[in-house]
Amino acid sequence: MLKPNFVIHSEDEIRAIRKAAHAAATVREKLIQLVRPGMTTKNLDDLAGSLIASTGGTSAFLGYRGFPGQICISLNEEVVHGIGSNQRILNEGDLVSLDIGVKLDGGVGDTAKSFCLGRAPASDESILLENTELALMEGIKEAKAGNYVGDISAAVEKVAKKAGLGVVREYVGHGCGTLLHEPPEVPNFVTRNRGPRLIPGMVLAIEPMFNLGTHKVITASDRWTVSTLDGKLSAHFEHMVYITQHEPEILTWLKM
Ligand code: MG
Repeated sequence: MLKPNFVIHSEDEIRAIRKAAHAAATVREKLIQLVRPGMTTKNLDDLAGSLIASTGGTSAFLGYRGFPGQICISLNEEVVHGIGSNQRILNEGDLVSLDIGVKLDGGVGDTAKSFCLGRAPASDESILLENTELALMEGIKEAKAGNYVGDISAAVEKVAKKAGLGVVREYVGHGCGTLLHEPPEVPNFVTRNRGPRLIPGMVLAIEPMFNLGTHKVITASDRWTVSTLDGKLSAHFEHMVYITQHEPEILTWLKM
């Protein structure tokens, strides 16, 4: 039998997913408030661990395929999957990408945000940050019943093209809900296959990863940290979106 290429969540599951997504978003915003130059990325990962615990949840990333951190901390040219380290000190002006996953009551929340640490972003940095976040919001606008996954991909890619940014191809968005990674994939670029049609009950993690230079990436010898091939900056924004009969609900939206 052909495996279904998407997941429809029940109302009960949505309740749990909503709670986990809210917890992940809370940890994201608290970390952004608390992170300071001079901390090591291990300090930040430890802090994330305690914040996750205070939500009543656990890290969805720790131990996932052997990942050793509570969250992913990716700096500057690092795209995704950076690991907190005692050797890595955060500096003012670092472009910090935090990716947070929380498991809570049978639901999973997954969200990411990039920002410039301790100062306003320089012009190239703000082009990268603003357009990556804009692409996420443009993608979310297409996340409505009747559209296809490919409509989200097209909206995200359009923003990158207009801004002249590289779109990472090896890593993509995904279904997310009771497992961290569920079908379908949600690419940040148009593919030959427009993917499944969107149906109420689907939950998607939409997560553009854009680079100032080439779209190409390499993985470090730690087997996790993914960086841009040319060493130029990268940014990552991610929200989880619940497809409904009406407007999409952004499960990881949080006003602080
Ligand atoms: Mg994700």
